[in-house]
Amino acid sequence: MLVLGIETTCDETAAAVVLRNQDGEGEILSNIVLSQIAEHAAYGGVVPEIAARAHAEMVDHVIERAMDEAGIRFDKLDAIAAAAGPGLIGGVIVGLTTGKALALALNRPLVAVNHLEAHALTPRLTDHVAFPYLLLLASGGHTQLVAVRGLGDYVRLGTTIDDAIGEAFDKTAKMLGLGYPGGPAVEAQAMSGDATRFAFPRPMQGRPEPNFSLSGLKTAVRLEAERHAPLAAKDVRDLCASFQAAVVDMVVDRTRVGLRRFRDAAGQPTALVVAGGVAANRAIRRGLQRLGSEVGLRLVMPPVALCTDNGAMIAWAGAERLAAGMTDGLDFSPRARWPLDPNAPGSGKGTG
Ligand code: ATP
Ligand code: MG
Ligand code: FE
Repeated sequence: MLVLGIETTCDETAAAVVLRNQDGEGEILSNIVLSQIAEHAAYGGVVPEIAARAHAEMVDHVIERAMDEAGIRFDKLDAIAAAAGPGLIGGVIVGLTTGKALALALNRPLVAVNHLEAHALTPRLTDHVAFPYLLLLASGGHTQLVAVRGLGDYVRLGTTIDDAIGEAFDKTAKMLGLGYPGGPAVEAQAMSGDATRFAFPRPMQGRPEPNFSLSGLKTAVRLEAERHAPLAAKDVRDLCASFQAAVVDMVVDRTRVGLRRFRDAAGQPTALVVAGGVAANRAIRRGLQRLGSEVGLRLVMPPVALCTDNGAMIAWAGAERLAAGMTDGLDFSPRARWPLDPNAPGSGKGTG
């Protein structure tokens, strides 16, 4: 089956066509991502109004390019999948409404996709990972450990109690004058920095619940940055390296605890999966690789382009749902908040 996916929940306007065969294997026929980074850079973060407007201006064009590149006519599509949340509501409305209009015009089913579920299912597209698996979802808006037990069956084992990891990278970058988005910039500086120069705290270390916390670490970085102002280039590199090392230690420790919790909730995992923009970070990847070999678990990391927001993940989640007969009505409402695990306590930021 052929599914068009539309993603507009944050600052990427994206569309893709994905093919899912009888054996449940996926193939990406096109994957167009138009980033709005340039529009938001001057403000040091995503401005919801600017994002919604940019989505409205570009979404038709991006869909046309995705169809062109796939070489598919609209009447060959089996379903339209659109991210229906969680995210910035203006953007979600644009993408979902566009998806509904196409579904209506083409007389095809609509699949209203949870953006987080799409991140969670991506490793099934890229690496044929079987249920159940442990997912670390780490992006600019989310940081959670999730037991993925089956399609639509997610248990949130842990989450951040304050900032998301990507958000902490972005704020650190802003603090050090490194620009937006911060993740890649901080990682680049960290590469040649001294990670032992600043002894930053390892938040949550040893705690029995696999939750995360970033705000104390962020404050520690700010205090050191202020103490050494004006910062020399080497200070910035060392701050970035020391910050990143603390994050890696926290991620590995929290994920190890998450694995223990996983076994109670879902038995033996088939893999440890990392998704979300933060999964692009090589130091974090290396840390999790070490953990994976230590506990004898395969570490799966989708290619970076599929870890960050994209249309293929929405199309794929749509295809998985369509194959299971899970389609949605045209009255489906856009959702600013939409937890993956409805039973997890909603605790502010980062809960999805
Ligand atoms: P959502 O949370 O809704 O999925 P998002 O747009 O914030 O939305 P992504 O596009 O998946 O999420 O990821 C972007 C985030 O990932 C940013 O916070 C960015 O700084 C972070 N990031 C990207 N590359 C790296 C890196 N190399 N190291 C650390 N963080 C990174
Ligand atoms: Mg993004
Ligand atoms: Fe995302």
